[in-house]
Amino acid sequence: MTTLSGKTALVTGASRGIGRATALALAKAGAQVLVHYGRGAAEAEAVVKEIRASGGRAEALAADLEAPSAPRALAEQARAIVGDRLDVLVANAGVGKSATIEETTVADFDRLFAVNVRAPYFLVQQLLPILGEGSSVVLVSSLAAHASVGALSAYAATKGAIDTLVKHFAAELGGRGVRVNAVAPGVIETDMSSFTKSEGGREFTLGIQALKRLAQPDDVAGAVAFLASDEARWITGDTLRVDGGSKL
Ligand code: NAP
Repeated sequence: MTTLSGKTALVTGASRGIGRATALALAKAGAQVLVHYGRGAAEAEAVVKEIRASGGRAEALAADLEAPSAPRALAEQARAIVGDRLDVLVANAGVGKSATIEETTVADFDRLFAVNVRAPYFLVQQLLPILGEGSSVVLVSSLAAHASVGALSAYAATKGAIDTLVKHFAAELGGRGVRVNAVAPGVIETDMSSFTKSEGGREFTLGIQALKRLAQPDDVAGAVAFLASDEARWITGDTLRVDGGSKL
């Protein structure tokens, strides 16, 4: 079983969806978890409460990751709590947008890249002083980065950027003993993939998957916890598909 006993972790976008499930999984494995949120203060506090109720340690941290200054501010908040050592960073917070090429606006494009690419990039940069030998960074890519699944070109490009960053970060940070990987979820039943609630959306999703059920946030959280743990100590620079065999 994955153990993160005595480790410190920061999960961005942990108020809902995959981030929430990941925060709970890391806490269950024994980590102290910093539960980051954007707007969902009450939801993040509920995650903190749930972790504490099970005997774990957690704190909620706010930052709007669309703002250029947010990674620095969030890193400062994290350092004020964990001190000089962060074992696990899960840069999960993200935004989606379903739009054709014609429909995509410059504002949409900039927002997608600000939250999904710029924020994780500079969060890693700002946290480097407290990431060290044995630390693990997990970024969140997507099935959309390597397969066409709907009108998602701008969003998909942000996830393609994540797959590229994983390799470059892993190469540059390997000398410090820091591992960097990503998970690439398929369709997961969260607010972001609300189309799964319709019969058509459900049918589409099951049609592209080898495994015939709708995936839940927990299905991704276990893979993230594995990559974060010492069990994955020889894995770096990789993107792990967590998609029930989508678009094989
Ligand atoms: P979700 O349920 O919509 O949750 C998104 C999370 O990101 C929330 O906690 C939200 O925080 C946070 N967030 C969004 N914009 C933010 C901002 N400007 N500043 C700070 N926090 C912000 O999404 P999800 O489905 O769990 O997705 C999580 C990650 O998985 C994303 O990177 C997404 O691209 C990726 N992914 C999802 C799927 C899927 O099918 N669901 C598939 C592949 C990849 P607040 O609510 O507190 O603002």
